[in-house]
Amino acid sequence: MDARMQKRTVAFSRDCSNVFFHLLTACNLACRHCYINVAQHGENTLDIDTIRRWLDIFAERAPSANLILLGGEPTLHPELADVIRYAGKRAFGSVTVDTNGFLFHDILERVDPGEIDFFSFSLDGATAATNDAIRGRGTYERCIAGMRRAAAKGFATSLIYTVSRLNLHELESMAALVKDLGITRFFIQVIGLRGASAEDAHARQLQLSRREWLDTVPAAAARIAEQGVIVTYPKVFLNAGELFECAGRVADNYFVFPNGRVYRCPLCEDYPLNALAIENNRLVEMPPINESHLFALDIPEGCVINRLVQPQNLAYDAAGVPDYRIACCMLKEEIFVRQ
Ligand code: SF4
Ligand code: SF4
Repeated sequence: MDARMQKRTVAFSRDCSNVFFHLLTACNLACRHCYINVAQHGENTLDIDTIRRWLDIFAERAPSANLILLGGEPTLHPELADVIRYAGKRAFGSVTVDTNGFLFHDILERVDPGEIDFFSFSLDGATAATNDAIRGRGTYERCIAGMRRAAAKGFATSLIYTVSRLNLHELESMAALVKDLGITRFFIQVIGLRGASAEDAHARQLQLSRREWLDTVPAAAARIAEQGVIVTYPKVFLNAGELFECAGRVADNYFVFPNGRVYRCPLCEDYPLNALAIENNRLVEMPPINESHLFALDIPEGCVINRLVQPQNLAYDAAGVPDYRIACCMLKEEIFVRQ
């Protein structure tokens, strides 16, 4: 590994807020691991006036929050350019659009690089064969073409790679690709049992074991970072003596859906457990029991919601003591080459 390589755990705090704003749930694709669940998140597309009012709510409540605009596919929203422009005038610290790369409604022609911090592209393989088996036929070519067009126009681009047993073998090969595409940030995500995955009988076999994760992901992340890219990946497993913290207790994150539900924890999104909701354009607290009551529980396994929804990630000794703890899904490791 490059001697200049720096690695750090990115602790979360109340001083750093993130607003993950799903403008709609519609999408042109049907990825195998899609976490959108229309029964829980709604099928509506928010109109521009409502989006502005909801942005006002978060700009006032969490000044300097990082705003991430998502869907579904957010570029399917015909007024995404106006949304980006409006967000730029409000008190957000950064504005990112997460896209599958199809870039509908000529979005690259309708906003300027100075109006947006990142277009973040989702790609799940270093080859078309692997990516398209997960995200659908032709998606590799479209996503690569979208990244190239965005970079050529001067937009900062990042890439999200959701790791599972279907594409772990190609993670390290992404190093060559990121250099070629000119991306500056690379996010590794872990496949969760949410949305489509929760319905998929085979999805449990797609999650990496602790051994697979530890043996592969940090080394591949370092290899990609050697290309001059900042690589971020979830910590997932805590070492003995490392502090467990629940972002639901100590951070200020909002996962906003078009039906008005506002969650504090993404692992709760398949359940009507949202701590907050937007009603009549006001953010209100939900009555008990909601996710915030679960965050308050201290258990030896670490993350309470992981214990409830994906307990197969845990292991115990003969006395019933957990072998390790699961970190908060929002605790990240960041690795990059010191300049
Ligand atoms: S994961 Fe994203 S791109 Fe894929 S179907 Fe879901 S919303 Fe669409
Ligand atoms: S993932 Fe676990 S630790 Fe993190 S906010 Fe959710 S419940 Fe808390």
